[in-house]
Amino acid sequence: MVFKPTEIVGVGRSGFPIKKGEREERSFLQMALDAGSRRSSKKALSPVRPNLGFERLYRRKIMCLVDEMAKSVEHWLRADYRKQAPKIAQDASPTKELKKSIDELSERWQDRFDEAAPELAKWFAKGVDKRSYVVLRQILREAGMTVKFKMTPAMRNIFEATVEENVGLIKSIPKQYLTQVETVVMESVTRGRDIGYLTRELLKRYDITYNRAKLIAVDQNNKATSALMAARQTEMGIEEGIWLHSHAGKEPRPTHLANDNKKFSIKDGWFDPDKRVRRRIWPGELINCRCTWRPVVKGFS
Ligand SMILES: [Zn+2]
Repeated sequence: MVFKPTEIVGVGRSGFPIKKGEREERSFLQMALDAGSRRSSKKALSPVRPNLGFERLYRRKIMCLVDEMAKSVEHWLRADYRKQAPKIAQDASPTKELKKSIDELSERWQDRFDEAAPELAKWFAKGVDKRSYVVLRQILREAGMTVKFKMTPAMRNIFEATVEENVGLIKSIPKQYLTQVETVVMESVTRGRDIGYLTRELLKRYDITYNRAKLIAVDQNNKATSALMAARQTEMGIEEGIWLHSHAGKEPRPTHLANDNKKFSIKDGWFDPDKRVRRRIWPGELINCRCTWRPVVKGFS
C-alpha cells in the first residue's frame, strides 16, 4: 500500500503511518491488518483467559445472599419445628403449619433474590467485559497495536444476553433450595425425626446450594469471557483464532482435545462434532470447558 505524503499526518508507535482524518487508535490496527494482506505474515497472540479472582468474587456475592437466606430459613424452621415437636411426637403431623411457614419463607426469599438479581448480573457482565478487555488491550499493545474501547450493537446484544442469563440463574437459587428444604421438613415430620436430624439435613441442602453457586460462577465467567471477547475481537477485525485446549480438566472433551492448536473463525465459532453438541461453539462456552484461543493478527512478524 502506497500513501501520498500529504495523506500521512504522523507515525504511530509501531511505525505505521497515520493518515489524515484517522484516529491513531483505529489506524494502528487497520493499517496493521492492511499491511497483513500485503505481507502474509501472521502472529498468534496470547489468549485472554477468564479471570479467576473475579470468578471467586462473583461466587462470594452470590453466597452472601445464599448465606443470609439459609440462616433465616434455618432459624425460623427450627423455631417452628420445636413448637410442633409435641405434635410430631404424637404422630399428629402438623404439616399444614410447617408448610405455611415454608411458603412464607419462600415468598420472602424469592422476592429478595428477584430484587438483587438484575443489579448483581449487570455488575458481573460489566466486570467480565472490563477485565477481559483490559487484558486484550495489553496483549495488543505488546504486539504494537492500540485500540479504543467501543460498545457496538453486536456486543451490546451479547452483554444483554449475559445479564439476562445470570438474572435467571440467580433467581433460580432460592426456588431450588427451598423446594429441597420443604422435602426435608416434610420427611422429618412424617418420620417423626428430631430437630437434630432436621438441622443436619438442612446443612446438606446448604452444601448443594453452595456447589451450585460455585458452578454458576465458574461456568458463567468462562462463558461470558468467551462470548464478549469473541464479539470484541470480531469488531476489531480479528477473524482467526487458534483453539487452545486447557489440559487442566479431569475429563477432557475428546473433540476439543483433537481441535487443540487448530484454526477457527472467531466470528462464526467452530463446529463441535461431538454428538451431544453438533453445533458451532466458542472455546469456554460449554459447561466445564476451559479451552481458550489465541487471536491471530496479520502483518506482524
Ligand atoms: Zn473445551
